[in-house]
Amino acid sequence: MRVLIVEDEAAVARKIASALTEAGHDPKAVHNGEAALDEVRKTPFDLIVLDIRLPGIDGFQVLQRLRKQHLASRVLLLTARGALDDRVTGLELGADDYLPKPFAMQELVARVHALGRRYPEEPVMSLRVGDLTLDLATHDVHRGAERIELSPRELMLLKVLMREPGRVFTRTELCERVWEHAHEYDTKLVEVFIGRLRKKIGDPPLIHTVRHVGYTIRSAD
Ligand code: CA
Repeated sequence: MRVLIVEDEAAVARKIASALTEAGHDPKAVHNGEAALDEVRKTPFDLIVLDIRLPGIDGFQVLQRLRKQHLASRVLLLTARGALDDRVTGLELGADDYLPKPFAMQELVARVHALGRRYPEEPVMSLRVGDLTLDLATHDVHRGAERIELSPRELMLLKVLMREPGRVFTRTELCERVWEHAHEYDTKLVEVFIGRLRKKIGDPPLIHTVRHVGYTIRSAD
């Protein structure tokens, strides 16, 4: 994959670039947001590894401008550990995944691979399970013609499930993906949010409990 690395710490950017090169990708590194926008206007990238804290225009603004120009590169955000607001904002602005800093290089390479696998061809602009749709650009959720209003956290949870229909997620996994309670897994919270989502999505049910394992979303038909 052609990967653009946007990271102002030159040493970190170099490390990421060499790890991705070693893993068979074709990375290019820039050190600020303006340069990143210039690059993506010149040539398309499959994936952008985007640091949030940048001098000048920050990662959020870069992301916002990319999405406004309908540039469909996948975006992996590098966030500060524990900064929950950053993750929520990032995903709301259309990031595909995030990785809290500091991270192990292996973890970054694994996330990059996963993002590549998830969308083998054209980047997906909306997710669909049966008659439930989630527009990744506008975050509108519809069941059939009916619009469903979700809170940001409910939306994140639904997005995780809808990205991989049929895959069974454990409660812990969902906690990590949506809340990232690395030290205090609160699986009860997942149950509460799954309950709310089910209620809002309505019948026939799409989110199913897999006994002793977790949850999955799949079409009723
Ligand atoms: Ca930075």
